[in-house]
Amino acid sequence: MMRRAWDVIVVGAGPGGSTAAARLAKAGVEVLLVDKERFPREKPCSDIYGPFAFRTYEELGVYDRLAEVGYLYPQVVLSSPDYTCISGPNQKGVTCPRRIGDAILRDNAIRLGAEAWEEFWVYDLVIEDGTVKGVKAKYQGEFKEFRSKIVIGADGSHSWVAKRLGLFADDYDQVYLAGRAYYAGCNPPLRDVEVHYDPGFNPGFVCLSPHPGYGDTVNMGVGIQMSQYERSKLTAEEMVEKFVAESPHGEKMRGARRVSEWMGWRVPSAGQIGKNHAAGAMLIGDAGSFVEPFILEGVASAVRSANYAVRTALKALEEEDFSEVSLSRYGEKWQEKMGPQLRALQGMAVTAADAEALNRVFNELKSNPEAVTRVFGE
Ligand SMILES: Cc1cc2nc3c(=O)[nH]c(=O)nc-3n(C[C@H](O)[C@H](O)[C@H](O)COP(=O)(O)OP(=O)(O)OC[C@H]3O[C@@H](n4cnc5c(N)ncnc54)[C@H](O)[C@@H]3O)c2cc1C
Repeated sequence: MMRRAWDVIVVGAGPGGSTAAARLAKAGVEVLLVDKERFPREKPCSDIYGPFAFRTYEELGVYDRLAEVGYLYPQVVLSSPDYTCISGPNQKGVTCPRRIGDAILRDNAIRLGAEAWEEFWVYDLVIEDGTVKGVKAKYQGEFKEFRSKIVIGADGSHSWVAKRLGLFADDYDQVYLAGRAYYAGCNPPLRDVEVHYDPGFNPGFVCLSPHPGYGDTVNMGVGIQMSQYERSKLTAEEMVEKFVAESPHGEKMRGARRVSEWMGWRVPSAGQIGKNHAAGAMLIGDAGSFVEPFILEGVASAVRSANYAVRTALKALEEEDFSEVSLSRYGEKWQEKMGPQLRALQGMAVTAADAEALNRVFNELKSNPEAVTRVFGE
C-alpha cells in the first residue's frame, strides 16, 4: 500500500528542495521529496551553480560529481552600461546544464535516504486548525492527501505552496523576466562567465555562460526587470539580437548560431522578500523570493535557504512544535546569515536603475578588487 505520512514533505526537487531533502535524510528524518516533473528535466537558467553553495555540496558529498560534469570557470567578468569591465576570480562555482546538475542533486538526496517521487503534482495543502498538515496531490492518476508534520515549499517561482499560504509576492519592480538559449560557434571560444549590464537592458543584463564540455556551446541569457520589460517595445529575443549586433561584448557571438529553443521564466528577486513561514510550513528558494538581486543568482541562495529551513525543521521535530512561533526561527536564521549580502545586492539593483550611477560604481569597484570578490565571489 502507498505510504501516506512522513515527517517532512518537500515540494519541488530543484536545488533548494533536493538540498533540504538530502540534509533531512542525512539527519535521519523521514522525508518525501516530490516533483511534478520526471527527471532529468529542463529548467531555464544561465546554468551557473554559484560559489556560495559549494560548502553545502561538499558536506553532502556531491560537489566533486557536479564539478566533474560541469565547468569550473576561472572568473566572472562584469561590464557596466559604459562598457567598463570588472572581474573577480571564481572560487568553486561551476556551469552545468540544469537538466544534468539538478538530477545529480536529486539523486544525491535519494542516496542519502530521501524517498523521491516524480510526476507528483501538488495542487493544494492540507490545513487543519490553521496549521499545514500535508499536501493534496495528483499522483498516479488519482487525487490524494499526503500528511506530514512540516511541508517545505521549494516549488519554484510560481509556487502553489506560497500562493496557498498567502505569502506569494509579485512586485514587478522586484520580479525579473529571464530567458536563455544555447549557441554554438562563439568566436573566440568563451571561457569566463560574463555579465553585461548593457544600456539596452537597463535595469537588467545579458549573461554569457560557457559549456566547454557540451559542444563548447554558450548559454546566452537575459534578465530584465518586469516593469521595465512591460514598457519596452522590443521582445527579450530582439533585445539580445541588438546586444549581439551593437555591443562590443556581443561581437564574439556575431557568427554564433542558436542550437536550442529560447526558454523564459519568472525570477522573483529578494528585493520583495518577506515572511517565509507559517504554522507547519516554510518556503525556500524561488518560492520564497530568495534570488539575489542585481545578479539574479538563485541556485546558491535556494541551497542556503534550504540549510536554514532544515535547521529549523530539526529543532521543531525535536520539540514536537510546528507552530508559527517555532518556525519563525527560520526567518531569524536566514535574515542573520543571508540578509547582509541580499541587502548589499539590492542596493546594487536600485543603483542599476540609473545607468550613470552604475557606471560610477563599476569605476569605483575597478580599483577595489576585494570588494568585487566580497559581493560576487565566495
Ligand atoms: C533564464 C534564467 C537564468 C537564470 N540563471 C541563473 C544562474 O545562472 N544561476 C543561478 O544561480 N540562478 C539563475 N536563475 C535563477 C534560478 O534558476 C532559480 O533561482 C533556481 O532554479 C531556484 O531553485 P529552486 O530549487 O528554488 O526552484 P526550481 O529550480 O525552480 O525548482 C522548483 C521545482 O518545483 C517543481 N514544482 C513546481 N510546482 C510544483 C507542484 N505544484 N508540484 C510539484 N512540484 C512542483 C518544479 O518542477 C521544479 O522542479 C536563472 C533563472 C532564469 C529564468
